[in-house]
Amino acid sequence: RTAICLFTRDLRIHDNPVLLAAAAADRVVPLFVLDDAVLAGPFNRPNRMAFLLDCLRDLRRSLRELGGGLVVRRGSPSAEVAALADEVGATEVHVAADVSAHATARANELRQVLAERSCALHVHDAVITAQPAGFLTPAGNDHFAVFTPYFRRWAEAPMRRSAAAPERLRMPDVRTGTLPARADLAPGDLSPRLPSGGETKARQRMRDWLADGVAGYVEGHDDLAADATSRLSPHLHFGCASPVELVERAGRGEGDQAFVRQLAWRDFHHQVLAARPECSHRDYRARNYRWRDDPQALRAWQEGRTGIPIVDAGMRQLAEEGWMHNRARMITASFLTKTLYLDWRLGARHFFDLLVDGDIANNDMNWQWVAGTGTDSRPNRVLNPTRQATRYDPAGDYIRRYLPELDGLPVGQLHEPRRIDPAERARRGYPAPIVDVDDANAEFRAARGKA
Ligand code: FAD
Repeated sequence: RTAICLFTRDLRIHDNPVLLAAAAADRVVPLFVLDDAVLAGPFNRPNRMAFLLDCLRDLRRSLRELGGGLVVRRGSPSAEVAALADEVGATEVHVAADVSAHATARANELRQVLAERSCALHVHDAVITAQPAGFLTPAGNDHFAVFTPYFRRWAEAPMRRSAAAPERLRMPDVRTGTLPARADLAPGDLSPRLPSGGETKARQRMRDWLADGVAGYVEGHDDLAADATSRLSPHLHFGCASPVELVERAGRGEGDQAFVRQLAWRDFHHQVLAARPECSHRDYRARNYRWRDDPQALRAWQEGRTGIPIVDAGMRQLAEEGWMHNRARMITASFLTKTLYLDWRLGARHFFDLLVDGDIANNDMNWQWVAGTGTDSRPNRVLNPTRQATRYDPAGDYIRRYLPELDGLPVGQLHEPRRIDPAERARRGYPAPIVDVDDANAEFRAARGKA
């Protein structure tokens, strides 16, 4: 038996059901295909490509240590798998289940080309912890629309046990190919303080987080300056960290359990997208909101120059690190959709341009949640930036970290930019607020009240 292990968003050797099943064959060919359709599309961006290449280099090293290697091809995954299957005489192909429309189309094409070759396709759960549908879903529904009952079921459902890496791989003689340079695949500038990827880094972070970080998660997770969340999201996005292993290794403490609940949110959004793949671009709940058209305001938001420090700090963190704190994501997204009244799709697209952890399920479903078109049962709640800043950045340290031009200003002015003296503001090169937040939010409430 010869198997192909097609890696996608499961770039790890530990607790990878796809690799383990493939490794049970006599010979296995680990494969990653740089998908031309993805490379040509809007999701191919420098930050994520740099992180992906880190992951692939790390994976190749680990697979070599096991006696194998990583074959890298570029083209259409189904055509490349078919050609490789012919070349090595593969009788089975293993791949992870995934939920986006693109992943579903890829699996269907694979099934078709492999059926023509009498080669079996095996699909395994390796991306999220639970089946998107099936035993979790209430009778008659294809997904849960509300998190709390979803989480109740999720917590009760049996989860598979995590597994070790395979001990050895036997790989046939096949050309492995080289990894192209990042700039050739996704030209453009990188965020200057981008995290690096790969399973080795992910496992280190996982160990450190579970040993030292997670205990303080309940008190710290919303504190913007404390930066007290796991920062595992890019590793989870590319599958360098296994969500099942994280759930299993988390303890019984309050922080551990709150962290596990967040991992369930990830599964929740994935099961919504699995059932409603069109919601990557369409409203989950059709609201027919009349979004404003204001390219100048959009640009100010993207550049972190709205004149509202807590919003600008979040947007600058995104530009600098390719990552943003969850609380800041909520504040900046609420500001775009409910204060500036711009379409959530514009915000989601900008986040996708930069986020290392950017993924369709989590990004688009969270954007919709904040914008009021998604699964939130209180679609008209709006976050007030001053109150958010006072509560989640009380000393203003997060604002000062990302807006050095405001260094030295008293915290009251950082929280309430109207109080900054205009001459002082001009001297520091910081813009005046592009909108009166209180007026805009009152207008929003009035409009949505009638919506
Ligand atoms: P932790 O607080 O340590 O949480 C652990 C893990 O739980 C995260 O790594 C993530 O996988 C999961 N998680 C936490 N919160 C959420 C959530 N609300 N929804 C889904 N999963 C969650 N997350 C992404 O992974 N990719 C995105 O593209 C993305 N876009 C977002 C856009 C908006 C507008 C908002 C409000 C949130 C978005 N999130 C996204 C969710 C969340 O902000 C990030 O997962 C989190 O900030 C990552 O940091 P962390 O790993 O330190 O999280």
